[in-house]
Amino acid sequence: MHTVQHFIDGKTTEGTSGRSASVTNPATGEVTTQVVLADASEVDTAVATAAKAFDTWSTTSLAKRTQVLFAYRETINAHRDEIAELITAEHGKVHSDALGEVARGLEIVELACGIPQLLKGDTSTQVSTGVDVESLRQPLGVVAGITPFNFPAMVPLWMFPLAIACGNTFVLKPSEKDPSATAKLVELATEAGVPDGVLNLVHGDKPAVDRLLEHPDVAAVSFVGSTPIAKHVHRTATANGKRVQALGGAKNHMLVLPDANLDQAADAAVSAAYGSAGERCMAVSVVVAVEPVGDELVGKLAERARALKIGPGTDPDTEMGPLITAEHRDHVASYVPHAREQGAEVVVDGTDHVVPGHENGHFVGVSLLDKVTADMAAYRDEIFGPVLCVVRAQSYEEGVALMNASPWGNGTAIFTRDGGAARRFKLEIEAGMVGVNVPIPVPVGYHAFGGWKDSLFGDHDIYGTDGVHFYTRGKAVTTRWPDPSDGGVDLGFPSNS
Ligand code: NAD
Repeated sequence: MHTVQHFIDGKTTEGTSGRSASVTNPATGEVTTQVVLADASEVDTAVATAAKAFDTWSTTSLAKRTQVLFAYRETINAHRDEIAELITAEHGKVHSDALGEVARGLEIVELACGIPQLLKGDTSTQVSTGVDVESLRQPLGVVAGITPFNFPAMVPLWMFPLAIACGNTFVLKPSEKDPSATAKLVELATEAGVPDGVLNLVHGDKPAVDRLLEHPDVAAVSFVGSTPIAKHVHRTATANGKRVQALGGAKNHMLVLPDANLDQAADAAVSAAYGSAGERCMAVSVVVAVEPVGDELVGKLAERARALKIGPGTDPDTEMGPLITAEHRDHVASYVPHAREQGAEVVVDGTDHVVPGHENGHFVGVSLLDKVTADMAAYRDEIFGPVLCVVRAQSYEEGVALMNASPWGNGTAIFTRDGGAARRFKLEIEAGMVGVNVPIPVPVGYHAFGGWKDSLFGDHDIYGTDGVHFYTRGKAVTTRWPDPSDGGVDLGFPSNS
């Protein structure tokens, strides 16, 4: 059986901890791969390698760094099908969706290709007589990235291309559930010319993560994953003096006003709720239907949900693949009978769905729950599966109040034809990413991505200009080239003249 190893200092590095984890093909339930799990000493080796590479890489010219990034863009493009196949084999999402993930990740490589422009400083001349001030940004050192299973290509690409473009070196710890696509991306970076030691990969679980959070030579940590772990990462890494951006989980609501085009709203909600089997941090998991359109909307949602084709992600006809593990599938399915007991109406029940020929796969059908209320577990928890809740509201105000009471604030959307209502929503809603008639408003690479409240801990969003600021620190330089006639001691506070 194939074993996925670490990649340190430009080469495959065999794990020495003696620990490993099984990687399963979710469509078949078969264990296909083993992945090594690093202990603290292996993490230390990766960090030491990155620290050593920093001196050279941080002083490598922008021109050379940019050439490498342009080459990396081409390399990923040439291998995009292969990367997508690895994603489907270990995550389960359908091939077209996996290709979409690679494309969205590639956007950040393209952003990083423009790093000379993004790192340009500011200068003010003659701020005082004969004095100029210059602001510049410099890299931090070794940056660690810790990523979730649900986007094994896109989320790592949110981090390391921009971090290394800024002159940092990087240690990446991807999800141990589907490590192969991430491992391929790291190997391809070396192939494209990223020098040895600049980008290092260690696989692992809690011990590896915790060592990165405590390591004195790690300057900053980018984390994407669930809210409890994001809190742990933020708390531990900041306590150790590091800069941290920790993106957490979500429960994304879509508000449908009575004037919306209900067919379009239903298409959008079903696509955003069940795409990637609901395992997206920007999935729509709650539709808030403003009356009197609730019944009609639920009918349209149910009709579309029932028609979805569920099967292995390798089948081009499949629209929705399996869930990541059998345990997660069972956990997701458990919400449906529980919601029924708590008084929700189960309009579509996907819990017993079987895909013929794939009985051992981690499949579950899609479920649609209506008349859900805020006290139900299906509403309160991030289910992270194909279960869509519909909550009925009597007014725009009631809908927005419900949404703003959520502890999460990642993505949200409004569907309406009323520009005034959309504008009001844009200003009043407490979430980091807002869609107006757009169900999954993941911003393009040159805008930043980040939630509010329990969806992000730390001050910086990820990628975009915020990403550049996160991976650099500012410096203001005040300069005077004195005239030979200037001089004299002056103990007063410097003022402008
Ligand atoms: P997770 O939190 O279980 O794991 C994320 C990373 O943390 C993995 O690398 C994992 O190895 C590590 N980890 C897990 N448990 C740990 C522990 N106890 N201590 C230290 N490290 C630990 O998340 P997941 O299940 O891989 O991914 C799904 C979650 O990620 C969902 O909650 C989803 O909403 C969230 N997510 C958020 C975003 C976003 O941008 N906000 C994007 C993608 C996914």
